Amino acid sequence: MISIKQIPVLNDNYIWMINVSEKYTAVVDPAIPEPVIKELKRNNWKLTHILNTHHHSDHTGANIQLKKDSNCKIIGPKADHDRIPGIDIFLEDQDEFEFGTEIVKVLDVPGHTKGHIAFHFPESEALFCGDTLFALGCGRVFEGTMEQMWESLTKISQLPKQTKIYCAHEYTLANGTFALTIEPNNEKLKFRMKNIKEKRNKGISTIPSTLEEEIDTNPFLRPDSIEIQENLSLVGSPLVDIFAKTRQLKDSFKIIENN
Ligand code: ZN
Ligand code: FE
Repeated sequence: MISIKQIPVLNDNYIWMINVSEKYTAVVDPAIPEPVIKELKRNNWKLTHILNTHHHSDHTGANIQLKKDSNCKIIGPKADHDRIPGIDIFLEDQDEFEFGTEIVKVLDVPGHTKGHIAFHFPESEALFCGDTLFALGCGRVFEGTMEQMWESLTKISQLPKQTKIYCAHEYTLANGTFALTIEPNNEKLKFRMKNIKEKRNKGISTIPSTLEEEIDTNPFLRPDSIEIQENLSLVGSPLVDIFAKTRQLKDSFKIIENN
C-alpha cells in the first residue's frame, strides 16, 4: 500500500506526495519546491520520482530544483515531452511502470492540454488526474477539442467506482455552485454541496473524492441526465454536444457573491 500526503500550495493547488517504504517517494505535479522539501525532511524521505500530468507551470514549476536536489526521475506525457522541464521518461496510454510494490498504469487524457496523462494505482484504488477531472468539475479545454476531453472523462469514468480521485485543484465549491444551476433537483448533489460548504467553512479539503460521487453529481460526467438536457435545451442530443455546452456555460459562469 502507498501512503499519500496532501500539500496545499499557491491559491488552490494540491501537490500529492506518494510514499512506499523508505525507498520510494514521488510527488505529483510539484508547483513550487519549498513545501515539498519541507515535507520530505519532516518524514525523512528521499524524493525518487516526479510524476507530471501536464506541462502547465503550476504543475511543473519545481521540477528542475527538485531534480537538482535529489536526482529524481521525472516522468511525464510523451505527447508533451518537449514542454516538461527536465523530463527523463515519456509515457503514453496503457504504459505501466513499477513504483515500489505497486504497478502504475498510465491513461492518456488529453483536452486540457495536448499531452495530459493520469496515473492510476489500481491496487491502492487511486487516480492522480491533474486538471482533467475535478471534484464536481473538469479542466478547461485549452489545447484539445471538446471531443478529446469528453473521451478522456469517459475513459476515467470506466475505472472502478471506488477509485479515489486525486485532482490538482481545490475548485469544488465553485464547481458545485455551477452544477446546481443546471441540475438543481439532483438530491445527491444537494447533499454533497451541503457537506462541501461545511468543510470549506472550516478550511478542510474536499479532495480526494470517489469516482462514484463524481458519476452521481459531477455535471461533466452526467450529459445523460434528463434534467441537465432539459435545462440546456438539448434533450436527446449526442452526449458530447451536451458535455461541450456544459463546458461553455461553465467557462462564462460568474459566481455572484451576496454578502
Ligand atoms: Zn493546467
Ligand atoms: Fe492547474
